[in-house]
Amino acid sequence: MIEFHEVHKYYGDYHALRGISATIREGEFFSLLGPSGCGKTTLLRTIAGFEDISSGAVLIDGKDMSDVAPNKRPTNMVFQSYAIFPHLTVGENVGFGLRRDPRSKAEKAKAVEEALEMVGLKGYGARAAHALSGGQRQRVALARALILKPKVLLLDEPLSALDKKIREQMQVELIKLQREVGITFVLVTHDQEEALVMSDRIAVMFEGEIAQLADPETLYRRPNSRRVADFIGVMNFLPAQILGEAAGHVQLEVGGLGRFEVTEEQASARASGAEPVVGFRPETLTILYEGQQAHDREAPATIDEVVYYGDMTYYDVKLDGVDAPVRISMRNVFGRPVLDVGTRTRVAWSAGALVLFR
Ligand code: ATP
Repeated sequence: MIEFHEVHKYYGDYHALRGISATIREGEFFSLLGPSGCGKTTLLRTIAGFEDISSGAVLIDGKDMSDVAPNKRPTNMVFQSYAIFPHLTVGENVGFGLRRDPRSKAEKAKAVEEALEMVGLKGYGARAAHALSGGQRQRVALARALILKPKVLLLDEPLSALDKKIREQMQVELIKLQREVGITFVLVTHDQEEALVMSDRIAVMFEGEIAQLADPETLYRRPNSRRVADFIGVMNFLPAQILGEAAGHVQLEVGGLGRFEVTEEQASARASGAEPVVGFRPETLTILYEGQQAHDREAPATIDEVVYYGDMTYYDVKLDGVDAPVRISMRNVFGRPVLDVGTRTRVAWSAGALVLFR
């Protein structure tokens, strides 16, 4: 649907996009995720045609877009600032893009009503736009984009101005909406949780480059570099010594965990320094209560810090012989006490959950 071929963008001397090549599939919910200034908005704007590229090509539906003006592209953009007209009604805002549409007034009114229904604002057409809440304004902006039936909807941090509860609600609604209308959504966000929740696939960007492009689960479970691992969720790292490699496996020795092996697939991630490290997510470890058996392996440890979150508890534990604590997240279960700092315990873990960065 959308193809980037070696896209470069310079602002003067500043190299904002450094050879982006990627394909966004038809009908998918695709996110551009990265820290501030990594170039995600710039890349999104090259799809819309708001930004000329310095070299390379952007194709939509197999067609090179370099000579196609923004208003001639099959795209529409929803911005972070809702950019709705406060002096118009909700219906007038939504129907704004149909000004020059040759359809009859009645047909246009029907299209407006349909678009409002899609975003959960059925019956709001006659209301004054200025009287809407932030979440409702964002829905109006969405309806206004959807009424033009774009093949691609571009969303630039559309939810970032909303508070947490409404934002989470809108995330779920946006996913549903995207499934209903079936058009390609491309979302820019710096919020990794938002990207994980909403996307079919995510491109993680740093400094004008795509560091990894994958589905949310792969990004989370198999980050291809320490930098991606650090950006998405929490990951524990322990220094590892590589003892050898044979038959598709890498033998390791890790302080606190002992000797074990991982598959080549688990060992394909890049370290940021020269030293190899193993990484593991907090929920891949479990604290064993008395009498509980580990399914796989276990290691002795002492609880160093406890952070209680209601449904979850985070334990920072020190594996025997390791100074730096590792974080373990445990779902709280009724009837099972939260353990105290200083408790001697055993930690269950599994080599299959580790990633080797080297
Ligand atoms: P944010 O989340 O902060 O919006 P971003 O990842 O979307 O960040 P971009 O807006 O794409 O980043 O900007 C990428 C880089 O290009 C930044 O360093 C920015 O300062 C620079 N930049 C963007 N637009 C221009 C411009 N018109 N002129 C010069 N530099 C620009």
